Amino acid sequence: KKRNPNESEFHQAVKEVFDSLKPVLAKNPEYMKQGILERIVEPERVISFRVPWVDDQGNVKVNRGFRVQYSSAIGPYKGGLRFHPSVNASIIKFLGFEQIFKNSLTGQPIGGGKGGADFDPKGKSDGEIMRFCQSFMTELSKYIGPNTDVPAGDIGVGAREIGYLFGQYKKIRGGYEAGVLTGKGIGYGGSLARKEATGYGTVYFVEEMLQDQNFSFRGSTVVVSGSGNVSIYAMEKAMQLGAKVVACSDSNGYIYDKNGINLDTVKRLKEMEKKRISDYVAYHPEAIYTENCFGIWTVPCDIALPCATQNEIDSASASLLVSNGVKAIGEGANMPSTLEAVEIFQENNVLFAPAKAANAGGVSVSALEMAQNSARLSWSFEEVDSKLQDIMKNIYLNSKKAAQDYGTPGNLVVGANIAGFVKVADSMIEQGVI
Ligand code: NDP
Repeated sequence: KKRNPNESEFHQAVKEVFDSLKPVLAKNPEYMKQGILERIVEPERVISFRVPWVDDQGNVKVNRGFRVQYSSAIGPYKGGLRFHPSVNASIIKFLGFEQIFKNSLTGQPIGGGKGGADFDPKGKSDGEIMRFCQSFMTELSKYIGPNTDVPAGDIGVGAREIGYLFGQYKKIRGGYEAGVLTGKGIGYGGSLARKEATGYGTVYFVEEMLQDQNFSFRGSTVVVSGSGNVSIYAMEKAMQLGAKVVACSDSNGYIYDKNGINLDTVKRLKEMEKKRISDYVAYHPEAIYTENCFGIWTVPCDIALPCATQNEIDSASASLLVSNGVKAIGEGANMPSTLEAVEIFQENNVLFAPAKAANAGGVSVSALEMAQNSARLSWSFEEVDSKLQDIMKNIYLNSKKAAQDYGTPGNLVVGANIAGFVKVADSMIEQGVI
């Protein structure tokens, strides 16, 4: 905390991981001798840069860009870019730190990184978004490459932004290096099923966890926060598995539809028309819109999938979910539950699927996109989706086994942290003190 003052999100993420690692460190004193914790918590490189751009009225604006290249112990840095006004060093470092263990858990050879800018895409024209992306990439292009660092999307960065970023990278660097970014459009090197991967993957993971306890999405009532990329495809897969999704949200408020959310309407409003979730009620008058996005956790459900942002479930919301009878939580967003909220779920025997395991489907399919780009091939939707299902199942089994092996059976927070950590730590030792 002394070395990284005022970085509360980063401290929170590190505390969760380091607390989980106590049994591993007790069993393997070599990790302490080798200074693995001190090394792993310090990013290999932090890049912060000026992003000047011109708005539609001709005014010059300036934002701050970041790329944290956290760990290359097991592969090139890999992790998304977030464009949101709340972005700062603490948020990018917490996301980059989490990404190290998540990427390790996928079983694929990818290191950890994250980036973004405190730019607010809301209300900006297409031209403004393009000029911002071009300026951002003009600087970022010096530090990334298909074998060095491969960014992708995150909050505020979808296919449109990745397209503008890719175009500028190509213009600056020359040559066609498809593998420098993932989440690309299907026509120029993107992977089928990447758009769906994080949301689908979260539901695949949670279904594994539920079936272990003789539950299932089938017949369950589900609440999913957010209405962005992760949320929409989590809702889609939950519905395909027979669940009824009754609520979703955006940063202004939430909708409750007792008949089940109509996903076509949500997709049209959010993916195509870039409107607010409040507009849903104009098409479905029986649905109710309520201001205040955090109110979504007052809606009774069997399964809650937080898919919006960090710390969206605090202890009060967690207690409310428990008293309304929630059976399982699946984290689609990164660190959506506070440390206190996680404790409340665990104390009340709510099945809990932590983000770094449950939402690893997105980066897994990004790694499959890199593989397709290297091989100059593109696989069918079914092929990618079936690999995704296998990956999520393995992440579940490995996290469950690590939790058992280290004396906390059923605790997937501990299991995922340990399973992700060991491979990275051993690779660091094998590569010497660097
Ligand atoms: P999107 O930008 O597509 O959607 C984000 C959604 O969350 C929107 O509905 C947004 O509402 C809402 N939201 C954002 N910030 C806040 C806030 N401060 N308070 C309340 N609601 C908010 O992002 P993604 O779906 O890609 O990402 C969602 C989460 O999933 C993030 O935590 C991200 O890190 C994580 N994730 C994403 C992956 C991916 O592949 N995209 C992979 C793994 C994790 P509004 O439109 O009003 O801003």
